[in-house]
Amino acid sequence: MKAHRAILIKLPRDKCDVDYVKRLMALANLAYRGYEVWVPDVPKRVQYQIYGFKNYMRSLVFGTTPKRWFVRTWVPLKVMRVYGDGSRRGATDALVVLDFKKNVIKLHQVCKNEPGFVVEVPMPKWVIERVKEGGDVRYAMIGLRNNEPYLALVAEREVEPYQSSGYILAIDVNSWRYGIAWGLIRNGKIVSFKQDGLNPQRIVSLYNQAVRRERKVGRLKRLGLGDEANAKRAGRMARRLRSRAYRLIRAEAVFLARKLTKKALRYKAMVVIDDVDWESLKELLIRKYGGRVGKLLLSGLKRFVKLLVTQLQWYGAPYEFRRLYSRKCPRCGHKLTQQRGRVMVCENCGFKAPRDIVPMYWVMK
Ligand SMILES: [Zn+2]
Repeated sequence: MKAHRAILIKLPRDKCDVDYVKRLMALANLAYRGYEVWVPDVPKRVQYQIYGFKNYMRSLVFGTTPKRWFVRTWVPLKVMRVYGDGSRRGATDALVVLDFKKNVIKLHQVCKNEPGFVVEVPMPKWVIERVKEGGDVRYAMIGLRNNEPYLALVAEREVEPYQSSGYILAIDVNSWRYGIAWGLIRNGKIVSFKQDGLNPQRIVSLYNQAVRRERKVGRLKRLGLGDEANAKRAGRMARRLRSRAYRLIRAEAVFLARKLTKKALRYKAMVVIDDVDWESLKELLIRKYGGRVGKLLLSGLKRFVKLLVTQLQWYGAPYEFRRLYSRKCPRCGHKLTQQRGRVMVCENCGFKAPRDIVPMYWVMK
């Protein structure tokens, strides 16, 4: 089985002609739609690469990669790898060269439309780690995100999922208070259980602070004082708070995905992930935290699941998605009634468990 992981690397803006990259993206878009347009003012070398990827369009480069920035207009590029011992892999006409001797990435003629124009960026640790794990970076893409130029690298690794040792790592994404709960199960017993991550109260508080400042900016604007230092400061602060909330969620998703992947590998566990009903979770979060924060929390949870699956695949951990309910009896399927202290009871068969643990019983079923 082939597993993939991807990374985005920001390119130096002063060395990249954004309009040129836009042009290349437009050509890549045409290639994706099946057209082949040769333009006189873009190097042939670059155009050959774009159309050379046509046959892969349904595969890795244009489609099913794990991260969502891979919209179809990113420009696919071949990659040459020069390893420490001097050996080389990849096409000789590659426009992206990973040089592990000098620890740099060289980009030829894709950042600026000038003959022989090369941009060098330092080799990220991420690439070195993936290569150490037996991966190979065979594809790259260049494109814009929020109008900033980026290089995307895709690592590929041949991996067979391991045989589970009998442990099951159950991951419940729909946990009410924390976002994520996980349990380690063996021989029908819960060995350990924990609720983790995504502290909604912190996000809510950051968001409310941002909103308060935005209101202040609005008030000052209405009074014709929008240009005052006061208003500008409040506006800056609001943006800063907002992006801090966003970063916090993102960092949490990354941290938890890594932590749970490591746990799965340590126990050689089979991983069962809650097959979340995203629509109803969205409603739930919006009802509880309001539209903006609810959506932000939802995006964090979605990102977590995506990252988790990508990493489980990469390290060969077997996994499956299963619907894990917390209000439905795992023994008989009857609706559960909630009693005091968040204890759930089945009036049909007598099943009883704390609400947050119920999903774990669905895994043992
Ligand atoms: Zn029951």
